[in-house]
Amino acid sequence: MNVSPLALLGGEPALTTPGPHFTWPPIEEADRRAVATQLETSVSVPDRSGVVADLEDALASCLGVRHVVTTCTGTAALHSMYAAAGVGPGDEVIVPALTFHATATPLFHLGAHPVLADVDDRGQLDLDAAARRVTARTKAVIAVHLWGLPQDMDALVPFADEHGLKLLEDGSHAYGATWNGRRIGSFGTAAAFSLNGPKPLSAGEGGFVATDDDELYYRVLLHGQFNKRCRREIPPGHPLARFAVTGMGLKLRIHPLAAALARAQLTRSEGYLAGRQDIASRLCAALDGVPGVRVPNVPAAARPSWYALPLRYEAAEVGGLPLERFLAALHAEGAVETDRPGSTCPLHTHPLFQHPGALLPGYADRRPTAAGGYPTAEHVHATTFKLPVWHREDGLRVADAYAAAMAKVAAHAKDLM
Ligand SMILES: *Cc1c(COP(=O)(O)O)cnc(C)c1O
Repeated sequence: MNVSPLALLGGEPALTTPGPHFTWPPIEEADRRAVATQLETSVSVPDRSGVVADLEDALASCLGVRHVVTTCTGTAALHSMYAAAGVGPGDEVIVPALTFHATATPLFHLGAHPVLADVDDRGQLDLDAAARRVTARTKAVIAVHLWGLPQDMDALVPFADEHGLKLLEDGSHAYGATWNGRRIGSFGTAAAFSLNGPKPLSAGEGGFVATDDDELYYRVLLHGQFNKRCRREIPPGHPLARFAVTGMGLKLRIHPLAAALARAQLTRSEGYLAGRQDIASRLCAALDGVPGVRVPNVPAAARPSWYALPLRYEAAEVGGLPLERFLAALHAEGAVETDRPGSTCPLHTHPLFQHPGALLPGYADRRPTAAGGYPTAEHVHATTFKLPVWHREDGLRVADAYAAAMAKVAAHAKDLM
């Protein structure tokens, strides 16, 4: 009897260095210095000064927008953005059915309704599905740029205009991505980003809102940055200025130590993005043609941020081997950082979206789900697995080893049947 070389069946693993093989963000001496300096300077920044102003100015200049407001999380940034865009009780916002739940959940705290629309085969908002979900109450549509691959903005911008909707972006996966050379986060009325641990730009915990609109900017400040910052930045003659002390009552400021880390990371961001692009191209070239594995199709107009490399699994090409078994074999080969997306999944499968009224008074009779469901979101989710995209300095060797492990498992898939 032939013995399979697959590690899952007793063979030698393809990778011999144990994981984890990917840690993010990369912490260098410059980060340690920036955080230590901030610790000596100030651990509370109640207005737009110091490290908060430095970070916001740098982000605004990178994105090419007039205003950036940092926040404690991306979830808070989304909450402030929706509130500032005037989304309120009874309003509907069209959200792609496949995303991280925080794209939509802040709407529940504004009395508004996330209206899910199915995605296309790339996992991006499907504009035909979105058009069918527009009603007289629809106020906005939000793009997500899943895994850092930009939504087709040449189609989405006119779609929002045609339907009279505000265009918002959740750029959490896509810091640094561009569409036709223009930064993701600069296309609509406003954009919200997460600066959470694993995101392409990381503060550990943090987020920000970007906008060109002065009025929206003041309202973002009033939503989560009350008192000093509002008093100093909303012009005294402005009708909203009298609310400066209390704002809308929430306090969602970024921590200055997190801001210092993000500022230091931002200095190296272009290098990370270019490095990830190199590695992603190399992985896609190595994996193209491996049975069972489909690499993403990246439109010429897009420069992704490569938050992850999402791959599609075609079980039929490997004798019907279930994805879970394929991944178990990859893990046994030592490619431990391949996984299926977890909490980034079809939103209608979360209990909160099925029964919002169980936790949120006021939602008893309302479900953000459509009859007929979200077949493409479910199919894309069921057939997607992903791996981290290293940046060039530390990643070339390990990326090649992951690609080799995948080719090995695919080549020997029949041993697993
Ligand atoms: C991470 C993430 C968020 C939430 O950001 P936090 O900083 O974790 O609050 C929202 N939307 C998307 C798409 C995300 O990936």
